[in-house]
Amino acid sequence: MKKTGNIRICNGNVFINPLVGFVKLDVQIEDGIITHLSDASMGTSDVDIDATNQFVVPGFVDIHCHLREPGQTHKEDIVSGTRSAAAGGYTTIVAMANTTPVIDSSQKWENIFDIIQQKSSIEVIQAGSITSGLGGNELSSLFLQNHSIPSFDRKNNAPFVFSDDGVGLNYPPLFRKAIQQAKKENYVCILHEEDATISSNGVIHSGNAFPELAYPGIPSSSESTCVARDLLMCHEEDYSPHFTHLSSKQSIDVLMGLADASYRFTADTTPHHLYFSEKNIDPTDTNYKMNPPIRSEVDQKALKEGIRSGIIRCIGTDHAPHSTSEKNADFCNAPFGIIGFETAFAASYTALVSSGWISFPQLIQLFTNGPNSILKLQNHSAIQPGTLGNLTIVDEQEYIVPSEFFSKSSNSPFVGEKLKGRIRSTIFQGKVVYSDQNKW
Ligand SMILES: [Zn+2]
Repeated sequence: MKKTGNIRICNGNVFINPLVGFVKLDVQIEDGIITHLSDASMGTSDVDIDATNQFVVPGFVDIHCHLREPGQTHKEDIVSGTRSAAAGGYTTIVAMANTTPVIDSSQKWENIFDIIQQKSSIEVIQAGSITSGLGGNELSSLFLQNHSIPSFDRKNNAPFVFSDDGVGLNYPPLFRKAIQQAKKENYVCILHEEDATISSNGVIHSGNAFPELAYPGIPSSSESTCVARDLLMCHEEDYSPHFTHLSSKQSIDVLMGLADASYRFTADTTPHHLYFSEKNIDPTDTNYKMNPPIRSEVDQKALKEGIRSGIIRCIGTDHAPHSTSEKNADFCNAPFGIIGFETAFAASYTALVSSGWISFPQLIQLFTNGPNSILKLQNHSAIQPGTLGNLTIVDEQEYIVPSEFFSKSSNSPFVGEKLKGRIRSTIFQGKVVYSDQNKW
């Protein structure tokens, strides 16, 4: 495995921008920075990576994942989680704060930041929690701290992404205080939208698909009512929130209406909500249990239309590892969540590009420019001299998803699925952190 910061990628189709698309070029990276792009004519004698018939794109950015460290490292940790992300083509990921303990103070944030610095193979942006212990009762000390980070000088050495992901924040007076603070500090707030008095003890979408099972349902309104309330409040405070893992047509309808009225927001959905509908899940297999749930074909189509219209500008994995023994419980008692890094690109390619919903360059935007602009990251989205050597090499080959993962967990509904779009190599700051030729 290449360990220097110098590398040459030859004969690949290099992503330039959504309008130009791909151009056949060689890419030279020195000391972790892209230094040259040249016509693919240098031959292949001293090639580091031969990308013939492959596509060289900016490293992917995941706005939403769970790395489980500290506290739940039997499911995942920084080492296994970042290897899994690298195998999925990611060079930057945002780790949620719902660990044990919750990342809600400077001390806890600095502790995990140190572990990330030592053990991560890619860039991890550690989110802090908005409320103490995700309790929804008071803003966390981390969130209230004055970090004074100008947005143009983010170095990822202080928290600037916050989320209570795992639970909804459903006390409007506290939410208003939160968005006032977020606006003042220029924070990115990632909102898990769920009214637990509506979702209650639900475990699956409240649809018509499985009446014989009589599982308690999770209505779309548990998400969409919060999306509407929160966006209206954010508009009053002139703050643009980020809505994560949207799952329902109702939410898209709300956002489309308010986008027309110039309300500012950003949103993501997940590969599994794009790929599956309740028509093609197995309601006895707990690897199809996640929150929010896979919903109807009508919801799935609305999410795809949301992507095509630009209402959704990003795909986030919601990578949520659980051990086999935890997932072996019956459907009502098993934990919510599935792993996602290693299948995200192929599932999205298959759902969106193979089916003709969007173009391949548009898909690349959903994994790169989209999340980069939401997170206000610099220097990541373009393949041009002077930018960081964070690159992913993919192809359009069809393959069957194997049951082995780099993740410590294997709770994936994609095992055995026939997908298109494999990750061939991932390069982080000029180092190959994943290659399908060199398994770890
Ligand atoms: Zn969530």
